[in-house]
Amino acid sequence: MPMPFSLLADTFEKLERVTARTQMLLYLVELFKKTPPDVIDKVVYFLQGKLWPDWKGLPELGVGEKLLIKAAAIALHVSEHQVEMLAKKLGDIGKAIEYLKREKEKAGRGGPGLLAFIKGAQASSGLTVEKVYETLARIAMAQGEGSREIKLKLLAGLLAEASPKEAKYIARFVEGRLRLGVGDATIMEALAVVYAGSAAKRPIIERAYNLRADLGMIAKILATQGIKALENIKPEVGIPIRPMLAERLNDPVEILKKLGGRALVEYKYDGERAQIHKKGDKIWIFSRRLENITHMYPDVVKMALEGIKAREAIVEGEIVAIDPDTGELRPFQVLMRRRRKHDIHIAMEEIPVAVFLFDTVYVDGSDLTLKPLPERHRRLEEIIVPSETWRLAEGIIVDSPEELEKFFLKAIEDGAEGVMAKAIHERSIYQAGARGWLWIKYKRDYKSEMVDTVDLVVIGAFYGKGRRGGKFGALLMAAYDPETDTFKSVCKVGSGFTDEDLEKLNDMLRPYIRQNKPARVDSQMKPDVWVEPALVAEIIGAELTLSPIHTCCYGWVKPGAGISIRFPRFIRWRPDKSPEDATTTKELYEMYLRQLRRIEEKREASAQPA
Ligand code: ATP
Repeated sequence: MPMPFSLLADTFEKLERVTARTQMLLYLVELFKKTPPDVIDKVVYFLQGKLWPDWKGLPELGVGEKLLIKAAAIALHVSEHQVEMLAKKLGDIGKAIEYLKREKEKAGRGGPGLLAFIKGAQASSGLTVEKVYETLARIAMAQGEGSREIKLKLLAGLLAEASPKEAKYIARFVEGRLRLGVGDATIMEALAVVYAGSAAKRPIIERAYNLRADLGMIAKILATQGIKALENIKPEVGIPIRPMLAERLNDPVEILKKLGGRALVEYKYDGERAQIHKKGDKIWIFSRRLENITHMYPDVVKMALEGIKAREAIVEGEIVAIDPDTGELRPFQVLMRRRRKHDIHIAMEEIPVAVFLFDTVYVDGSDLTLKPLPERHRRLEEIIVPSETWRLAEGIIVDSPEELEKFFLKAIEDGAEGVMAKAIHERSIYQAGARGWLWIKYKRDYKSEMVDTVDLVVIGAFYGKGRRGGKFGALLMAAYDPETDTFKSVCKVGSGFTDEDLEKLNDMLRPYIRQNKPARVDSQMKPDVWVEPALVAEIIGAELTLSPIHTCCYGWVKPGAGISIRFPRFIRWRPDKSPEDATTTKELYEMYLRQLRRIEEKREASAQPA
């Protein structure tokens, strides 16, 4: 049974009008109940605002504003200028197209044709989800010479066929501005309710998604084969697995206590995380955000081909820039320069890298995610052929805080960022997609009261004054709250930016600027413009402090106050992180408690008689 696209457009409209997650969930459940199992993957991708997972490395739609306006003009038999003016007035091309279509229909109804009347009165168009998806996919796939014409023709055809409402959402999808505000967590919960009978089954779907980061595919397996099929799912080479993440602590005694007294401690390299997949002579490299970055590292591809003995494997490591003369580690910023170079072969020459491997989750048909770390490590050692630039991360087993501290100092001296302390007991599994206490990072102290940097998401921007007049000069930053799937404001940051950073700010923010507060944003402070959560920046400050304005951890420490950062300073962008990877509200709360404890200890120490 084909699925009418109008069902999806109606749901988009409903979702757009609500911000409460429970209500969104109900709408999704309603939608999934009406979705035939064989199109559920496409419906999920539409909800995610994409045609396929980013890691597939398939082309994007490649339709700019100009082309969209042109297509709309053709579809509606009006001038481009007309569409453009109306879009400016309404602030949205989608709305302009919807309006113009409705006007045309009204005119049609007033006219003589009965057919026009019947067509005009219809809320839907006969377009199916399959047809819209397939046409959009063809638009994306049209590449090279003559592709602009093909894209234009296909898009104009689609917009002509669509109902006014459908056309609005097609236009917004094409522009990448669907802004429904539904997160993956809500989609998974709705899938659990509809296909597994209860929201309580969400963890099974979550685990499957963590092992194979393609929610459309997971939904399809669930809808066509049932929840049992998901329970037995394994990682698959070529499909990224969502990475295991670490908690943070800055006290070796506490770290060892958390890990059960004994731990593997490794250098924490300051580079780019790489998940390297091998199947025969094919290699894929996925970033921490699960982008396919294989093309950026032909040298690592070669290392992996020569350095993995297994036929099929998924290994993890950190790619670090090194000094070719000394082999010494170079800072993260040097590696990022390589990302910006256009000619990859020149970049490879100028910025050589090494890979330090620290885990494996899959080898020749065996899923290792539920095996303890020592066993995974053993497998890693067995399948690796080490070389100067392709080897295991430096590491030792420690069972005393003194040893840990000593190794930490050595790591810093050698140019690492600190250490990663990892549990080695029987339950030390690979927690895909989760931040937990099985891995604890211990990084260098910044010598301020605020011991560590945080990664916050831009949710708004303020225009600058004086020299910075007319341009953005400060950003409103938020932490992520996974419980409610919202971004809660933490601070306004206006210092630490170089002139170059500020120059680029307007261009960087432009695609994400919104007139109204985005659905998942929770902030009492009102910026000059709102920004859709997308960009993550590393921030340091003098200390964490209580604030009556900011909504992060509101009421957790004290009624009527949230947690904020005093004198926040921008350090750098974190393009390798997605908004959901930002520091969480809970982490900030724990950092605040630790800060209180430190102050308390200092006070006690100074109160001791000499
Ligand atoms: P940070 O912001 O501190 O760089 P993160 O938030 O990107 O960390 P975390 O999970 O908190 O990610 O810290 C672990 C990261 O450290 C990994 O994603 C990986 O890129 C890097 N790393 C470096 N060395 C190691 C190692 N030996 N084991 C695990 N991860 C390591």
